[in-house]
Amino acid sequence: MDRIANLCIAKGMRMTDQRRVIARVLSDSQDHPDVEELHRRAHAVDPRISIATVYRTVRLFEDSGIISRHDFRDGRSRYEEAPETHHDHLIDMTTGKVIEFVDAEIEALQEAIARRLGYRLVDHRLELYGLPIHE
Ligand SMILES: [Zn+2]
Repeated sequence: MDRIANLCIAKGMRMTDQRRVIARVLSDSQDHPDVEELHRRAHAVDPRISIATVYRTVRLFEDSGIISRHDFRDGRSRYEEAPETHHDHLIDMTTGKVIEFVDAEIEALQEAIARRLGYRLVDHRLELYGLPIHE
C-alpha cells in the first residue's frame, strides 16, 4: 500500500476502492497536479471515479493534513503529498512548470526574522515566480 493510504488508515479513515486509487495516484505523482489532472489519472485506473469524488477525496485528505494544497496563481488548486521534509517552489511563468528547491540560507533567514519579531517559526510558504533567462 502507498504512503497516503497508510496515513489515511492510521487516521481512522475508511478507505474505499476509489479513495485507494486516488491515494495511489497522488502518491505516484512527482508533479503538482490539479483536480482535473488527478481525475484524468484516477479515471484511467478506474473509469467509475467521477470528478466530484476526486474533489471530495482531496478535500478529505487535505483536511487530514495528508496532502498539501497550493495556489500558484493560475486559478487552480494544486496538490502534493505533504512532504516529509520541507521545500519551496519556483514557478516558471511561461510554462507553469513548478521547480522544488530548498535553500539553507533562506530557511535560516526566515527563522531569524520571526525570532526578531518575537516568534518561533513553525511554518512558512515561499513561492518564487520567474521568467526564464535566455543568454
Ligand atoms: Zn512541491
